[in-house]
This record gives sequence, structure tokens and C-alpha cells, in this order.
Amino acid sequence: MIKLSIFRKNPIFKIVAIVLIIVISVFSITEFLLLPLPIFGFHSIYDENRLNDLPSRASYLDYSLQNLEKLLIYLINNDYWFLSNQEFYDYFVSHSKTIPKELQNTKPIMLTFDDGYKNIDVYLLPLLETLQEKYNKSLKIVLYINPKQMKSDKEQKKTRYLNCEDLKRGTELGFYDVQSHGYSHTDLTRLTFQDLKYELSESQQDLKTCLSNLSNRQIAAQHLAYPYNKVNKQVEQLTSHYYQSAYLFKSRLRHLLFLFDSYKIPRIGVSKKDSPKTLIQLARRYSSISR
Ligand SMILES: [Zn+2]
Repeated sequence: MIKLSIFRKNPIFKIVAIVLIIVISVFSITEFLLLPLPIFGFHSIYDENRLNDLPSRASYLDYSLQNLEKLLIYLINNDYWFLSNQEFYDYFVSHSKTIPKELQNTKPIMLTFDDGYKNIDVYLLPLLETLQEKYNKSLKIVLYINPKQMKSDKEQKKTRYLNCEDLKRGTELGFYDVQSHGYSHTDLTRLTFQDLKYELSESQQDLKTCLSNLSNRQIAAQHLAYPYNKVNKQVEQLTSHYYQSAYLFKSRLRHLLFLFDSYKIPRIGVSKKDSPKTLIQLARRYSSISR
């Protein structure tokens, strides 16, 4: 009643309220259009029972293995389809392929992990193997890798990364989908044209060479996640020369001005503070949009 009397006395409040409702609606609709299905962006994984082992470069982005297990079990029990990056691109971006009949009633989701931390192999891979065996469900995660780090993995180093042998093994087992995060994890928007070209092409070449003897090598390093979430026109243009699609973390404000752009596909960034419940709610919300 108080609010209504304010609106009657002062029409400015009414105008502000209407504008706010319009802005919120536009944000929501744009968000729906920009993210056709849930794509989660994780980084490092840690085991709650071994807190100091295998640290990452940014601990606030670490996600607990125990919480991830809860999310995975929910997704498995609720008939989610764990997409590879190429499947996401073919079925939901380029629409160049028709979804197979047996998958048409499942809910697509893509789980991505940036920076290629060794803890993925040590903690997450065994969990994926256990869950796949227990639930008889095909599981897949997308890894955005920096080959420079991949080549520099040494046991005595504090922060450790997946090396080529790790990537080959996880790919052969069917769990890893190896894609690019640039050669050395540098801000691509600050590079000269030549350096940018090197970051994009060398990364692709190294990853393809690493997986060259595997049967699914042709879908490796076809997609890119921009390091530091940074992109500009030059980066986007050159990326489109080497890759089929590219990924950012979600920023409603930034994306409001763009229609769907396959070189600025938004992901839902996951941080330590996100509970499995929050992630399940997000997965459900975006899955209902994509149906
Ligand atoms: Zn990164």
C-alpha cells in the first residue's frame, strides 16, 4: 500500500520501476539466447582429505572432488548427456548434425576444465572411471590445455600440469576431450599479430601432435577457451582462422550487445564457493531453456 501511494504521488518511481523490469527481462531473455545449454567452466580439483596436495595457481577457483561427485551423480541419475566439444558444436552451434534418436530425450551438458592441472588426472579421472563403471554411463570432460605448461610438468614443481602422456591416456579411456587454451596462457589481446598467430597455431599443432596416434585425434584442438577471459576483434578474427568455436566466461553486461557468436560462447564459471546444489539448480535451469 505504501509503495502504491508513492507511485501515485511521484510518477518518477513508476517510470524507474518499469525501466527496471524491462532491463531485468532483457537480461534474462538475452542470457537464455546466449547459453543454449549448461556449459560449466571449472579449473582445478582438490581432495578435501588432502588439502595441500597438487595446488593450483588460483585457489578460489578450485572445486572440491567430493562436491563434484555429488553433481556428477545427480547428472547421471537425471539422464544428462555429457557432450564433447565437437558434439556441442555440431549439434547445438553449427547444427550440421542431427541428434541421434537415442539421445534426443537426454539433457545435454558440457563440463569444461581450464589450465590442465595434474589434479584432474590424480583425483577426477579415477572418479570418472568408478562412476562410469557403476552407472554404466558414458562420461566426458573437456580440457582446455596450454601446451607450454603441458611440456614443463616436473614432479618437483609446486603446481603440476597434465603432460602429453596423461592426455593420451585419458583420451584413450574415452574421458578426456582435449582442446586449446592458447600456447602459454597469456592475455591474447596484448600480443602483436605474429605472437598471437603463434599462440593460436602452436597450441593447436602441439595438441594434435600429442594425440596424433589416437583414433579420435581429428577432433582435438578444434575449439579454444580464451586465457584470462580476454578477447578483442583481432583475437576473434584470427581465432576463427584456426578454430571452429571459442569460449568465454559469462558476463551478462558484456554479452548483452551481441547476438549468439560462436567465437564468444559463454560458460558458467564455477568457483570454490558454489555448492553442488547451486550447480544442480543452474544445470536444471539451463537444461529447461534448451528443451
Ligand atoms: Zn586459464
